[in-house]
Amino acid sequence: MANKINLMGMTQSRLESFFEVIGEKRFRATQVLKWIHQLGVTDFQEMTNLSKDLRNKLEFVAEVRAPEVIQQWDSADGTRKFLIQVGGGNAIETVYIPDGERGTLCVSSQVGCSLDCSFCSTGKQGFNRDLTASEIIGQVWLAAKSFGQLAEKGPRKVTNVVFMGMGEPLLNFRNVVDSMHLMMHDNCYGLSKRRVTLSTSGLVPALDKLGQYTDACLAISLHAPNDELRNQLVPLNKKYPIAELLASAKRYIEGLPDTHRKITIEYTLIDQINDRPEHAHQLADLLRDIPVKINLIPFNPFGLSNYKRVSNNALRRFQTILIEAGYTTTVRTTRGDDIDAACGQLAGQVNDRTKRSARYKMDAERLLKAEGDYIPVKMVN
Ligand code: SAH
Ligand code: SF4
Repeated sequence: MANKINLMGMTQSRLESFFEVIGEKRFRATQVLKWIHQLGVTDFQEMTNLSKDLRNKLEFVAEVRAPEVIQQWDSADGTRKFLIQVGGGNAIETVYIPDGERGTLCVSSQVGCSLDCSFCSTGKQGFNRDLTASEIIGQVWLAAKSFGQLAEKGPRKVTNVVFMGMGEPLLNFRNVVDSMHLMMHDNCYGLSKRRVTLSTSGLVPALDKLGQYTDACLAISLHAPNDELRNQLVPLNKKYPIAELLASAKRYIEGLPDTHRKITIEYTLIDQINDRPEHAHQLADLLRDIPVKINLIPFNPFGLSNYKRVSNNALRRFQTILIEAGYTTTVRTTRGDDIDAACGQLAGQVNDRTKRSARYKMDAERLLKAEGDYIPVKMVN
C-alpha cells in the first residue's frame, strides 16, 4: 500500500492516538515503542507480543522506516560518521563521538540551514527542508543499531545526544521536540534530561516556548560578546539581539524544576575576529549574572570561508581570562578530523531551494503557526 504511516517518529501519545484510530487498545503503543527503539525491530511480523491479526493490520497501514545510510566512515579515534539519504538528492550527516564511558551523537535537524552564519559550512549551503521526526530519531536509531545497542542487553553506546549537526533545531520545533521525547522516554532510549542538549543560534520566540515542552539541556551559540560583532557572524542577531537572547535562555533555565542547571555558551573562536583578550573580558562581564559554562570551539576551516582557526596562543589566553573570571571553560577538541566529522564540517549535500533574498527571512511566524496544533506530551524523567 502506498503512503503507509511511518511509526518511527511517533511519540507515545501520537502512537496511542494512532492505535485508537485503527480500533486497537492504547497500550499497544508501549509495546511497539519498545520493539522499535529498544530492540531495533522494523518488521511487524517479528513483534511477537502482538496478535497475528494486529501484525497483519499494521503491515497493511503502517511501516517502521529509518532513513537510509549512504555511507559510513570510521575514524582512527573511534568517531563514526553517517551520510544519510533524505530524498531529492539531499543528504545529512550524523556523527558519533566516543569519549570514555560517554558516547555523544551529534544529530541534524534540517537539510541545510537558512540562517547563514558566516563561519558555518551548513549555512553556506542554504536550506532545503525540515527533517521529519522520523528522520531525526532515525539518526539515533541508526547509530544505536550500528553499535548493536538495539537488542536485549545491548551495550549502551549512545549515552548523549546533541542537536549540533546541520540545521537550526528551533526552526523545526515540533519535530525536534517529538524526537527529544523519544530520546528521553523510558520505553525508548531513556536518556536523562542532562544528556540531551539542544543548541540554538537564538530564535527567541521559540526558545520562550521550549520550556513548556521539554526540560533538556540548552546550548546557546553566542560566538561574540557584543551585538556589533555578533551581527556579522550570526545574522539572526539583528532580529534577536544578545540581551534578548540571554534573557530568554535565563528564563528557560530558571524555569526548570531542578536547580544547578547551567546553560552551555558555545563560542567559536576565529583568528583575529572574535579571539582578542578584550572580547574575553567583555564576555566575562556579559555573562556575569547567568548560570553558564563556556565551551570554546576552535573554528574549523572549510572551502567557502576565508576565516582562519584561532592560534593556540590566542585560544589559551582567551580560556585563561574566562577561567580567572570564575567560569568553567572547556575547549572542544577536534575529533574525527580524518573523516571530516568536526564541527562546521558537516556539509551533507543540500539542493538549496530558498532564494538568496529570502534566506534572511526569519521564519519564527511559520514556526509558531506550526506549533499551534501541538499537544504537549507529559515529560518523562
Ligand atoms: N544551528 C544550531 C545548531 C547547529 S550548529 C546552532 O547554531 O547552535 C552547532 C555548532 O557548531 C554551533 O555552535 C556552531 O556555531 C558550530 N559551528 C558551525 N560552524 C563551525 C565551524 N566552521 N567551526 C567550528 N564550529 C562551528
Ligand atoms: Fe545554521 Fe547553526 Fe550553522 Fe548558524 S551555525 S548557519 S544556525 S547550523
